[in-house]
Amino acid sequence: MLTSIVGINWGDEGKGRMVDLLSESQDVVVRYQGGNNAGHTVINDKGKFVLNLLPSAILREDKVNVMGTGMVIDIQHLCGEIQRLREGGITITPENLKISDKAIVCCPYNVAQDCLEEDRLGDKKFGSTRRGIAPVYADKYMKKAIRMGDILHPEYLRSRLETIVEWKNLTITGMYKGEEYSVEGLLKWFETYGTPLKEYICDTGYYLNSALKAGKRVMLEAQLGALRDIDFGIYPFTTSSSTITAYGPVGAGIPNRKVDNAIGVMKAYSTCVGEGPFTAEMFGEEAENLRKAGGEYGAATGRPRRVGGFDVVASRYGCMVQAADEIALTKLDILDTIEKIPVCVAYDVNGVRTEEFPSGEALNIAKPIIEYLDGWCCSTEKCRKYEDLPENARKYIEYIEKAVDCNIKYISVGAERDAIIIK
Ligand code: GDP
Repeated sequence: MLTSIVGINWGDEGKGRMVDLLSESQDVVVRYQGGNNAGHTVINDKGKFVLNLLPSAILREDKVNVMGTGMVIDIQHLCGEIQRLREGGITITPENLKISDKAIVCCPYNVAQDCLEEDRLGDKKFGSTRRGIAPVYADKYMKKAIRMGDILHPEYLRSRLETIVEWKNLTITGMYKGEEYSVEGLLKWFETYGTPLKEYICDTGYYLNSALKAGKRVMLEAQLGALRDIDFGIYPFTTSSSTITAYGPVGAGIPNRKVDNAIGVMKAYSTCVGEGPFTAEMFGEEAENLRKAGGEYGAATGRPRRVGGFDVVASRYGCMVQAADEIALTKLDILDTIEKIPVCVAYDVNGVRTEEFPSGEALNIAKPIIEYLDGWCCSTEKCRKYEDLPENARKYIEYIEKAVDCNIKYISVGAERDAIIIK
């Protein structure tokens, strides 16, 4: 059985929290795209953990975690993340962590290139997390990247670096006047941070195929949401990889497998980190109150997130793109104190009302058409059954369900593992 957990919105929907919860009934959890540019926050009985690279089920000892073929891995960051988790009492061994030999290594020169380019752009910057993600994906498609499996073959690694570093320096020193990288320096970096990871590197495709054949339950965990997908998101303010369900099996290393159940994680309101069109955005005091109530500051960067009401247009599109079979609606409790809840029901593009999510310049100029729904003005935090929810909260959920045309199965009313309602 292959399940995927994907984001319906701009990311930060609470996917980490849902994977942490739902992984209880899974055997294997796989990250299939992206790198350490996003953060999942998970709170459980062992404490609060921010995961950038590792699949969220690493916090459950009896689960196998796979870092898939579609990922880009900063091995220095990964070593730090593993160490922090070990200090927090989490066990990590080759039994519960497997890294694809085909995943790409994000190197120090990728991080440097990302920073140099953002600095060059100045006011026009993309709002990159400066962790090298766009440059390393570009290198992957230029066929000038190092793969995790190369770490196992030092002579081959050296020869690859000799070709790549010479080429990369043309950009770093020639174009940006940055500091030159040396093959010897990079080999030392690989020695320090690659050696401890060697025992985890394997062919995760064969591993996952035999796990599925043996009847194991495998879950694919996305980073970021549909609206950040490189093809279907708010290009160019997207991430550099595919965040969608359809790519999941490819990024995991099992392109021969179909996803049986796609669970879309959707937030009860909207948030967006960084630049780019965000039609439902709210400003001023109303926005500040929601941001504070929701603790809307980026897990990886600490940046304040832009906030807005629930966006029907974007979310319905997100459900479609993700082929979501069911929805997990998160952070309903954050709306507990709002008397009139704003919902963006359609967009106005050049005076024309649209309910389809536009792209490019049409999206840039889209204006929100807002309607207000009655709030419930009491705490939902302790609710554990659908009937426990106040009537207006149920009305809100049913309104959204109809608007996005997808069944809402899970409702999250707190960050803790048990703060969940199954409808
Ligand atoms: P992810 O990247 O999609 O996993 O999302 P983030 O980790 O960036 O953001 C989710 C944040 O909201 C985390 O701090 C979670 O602990 C928290 N969270 C998730 N679900 C809920 C919820 O239902 N209520 C509240 N109050 N917090 C939640």
